[in-house]
Amino acid sequence: MNLTDTKKIWLSSPHMGGKEQGFITEAFNENWIAPLGPNVDKFESAIQSYLGESSHVGALSSGTGALHIGLILLGVSSGDEVLCQSMTFSASANPIVYLGATPVYIDSERDTWNICPEQLEIAIKDRIVKGKKPKAIIAVHLYGMPYKAKEIQEISERYEIPVLEDSAEALGSSYEDQKCGTFGDIAILSFNGNKIITTSGGGAIVTKSKAIKDKAIFLATQARDDAPHYQHSEIGYNYRMSNILAGIGRGQMLVLDDHVALRRRNYEYYQQQLSSYSGLRFLAEPKGLYSNRWLSCVETESYEMRERIRLGLAAQNIESRPLWKPMHQQPVFKNCDCYLNGVSDDLFEKGLCLPSGSNLEEEDLFRIVSVIKDILR
Ligand SMILES: *Cc1c(COP(=O)(O)O)cnc(C)c1O
Repeated sequence: MNLTDTKKIWLSSPHMGGKEQGFITEAFNENWIAPLGPNVDKFESAIQSYLGESSHVGALSSGTGALHIGLILLGVSSGDEVLCQSMTFSASANPIVYLGATPVYIDSERDTWNICPEQLEIAIKDRIVKGKKPKAIIAVHLYGMPYKAKEIQEISERYEIPVLEDSAEALGSSYEDQKCGTFGDIAILSFNGNKIITTSGGGAIVTKSKAIKDKAIFLATQARDDAPHYQHSEIGYNYRMSNILAGIGRGQMLVLDDHVALRRRNYEYYQQQLSSYSGLRFLAEPKGLYSNRWLSCVETESYEMRERIRLGLAAQNIESRPLWKPMHQQPVFKNCDCYLNGVSDDLFEKGLCLPSGSNLEEEDLFRIVSVIKDILR
């Protein structure tokens, strides 16, 4: 078959709701073409209402920038150690290095694929014995599945080490009816093009007080002192969100719940159609955890089987991707210490992300599943 005859199916592509351009037009009509303005304020309040009024949200230019500012606000600086979930996207970890601090990687647990509470505690005790108490913990809700927020919070309080919650993939997920993005001392969101809602590029920092949010915005807008001239007593960053892009965000917030429902529909369809095949395993939600199913992932029984499915889908113009390669396996982090139990290595070897966009048509899902069934036959 000629590939150009079939529609390309992407892993996770942007999905506009319809109201986005109207908000951008407002920005043009009022000449608010700047990294602040009414769309930014209204996008922030929309997220705030969604997460709950005790959250304070600052819209930034990326999730990575939000993590960078978050670490600064938690007091991380040069020479510090930060404990970070190994199974994640590199953006969770890079800001540690921007600050001259050192990541120490923690493996995942089987039932959420996220930071393993046992390994985390082993690591904290060991780092303390070695003479350096870690300055922060970065925990990630991978693929939208919440990490064990209660256990992690309990450890964080016991050892008095704050948590930076990477909720880049988990807007719309919740843990015991509390929304992801509200657990860490500071949390971050991402609105990159592949996320559950997008502003093309963008992110947010979520804090528990207005004062900390104000400090985040101060740092994200060049740390300008309160003076008529330009005066600086601290190093600042240029991380604020554009008022144009915030217009896209306002439109996307109107369809966030629809996107969650559609992504969960994708997962349920795959699970229903494929879970009877021997060698394929889907990650169920543990009790009390609700995943936005940002990406539908499947665990196969071997690297060989994973690659057979991935390459078979690619041959039919369908994009899929191996799970995140753990940070402790990344060449750039090869000298970092890590606390491992084998889970993330195993997931990386055998796991595959299937097409997961909220804009997939039923016939797309049918086509994907038929191709996989053919491969496994
Ligand atoms: C996307 C993502 C980020 C980074 O967000 P950007 O907005 O792309 O900078 C951070 N962590 C995780 C887990 C992500 O998936």
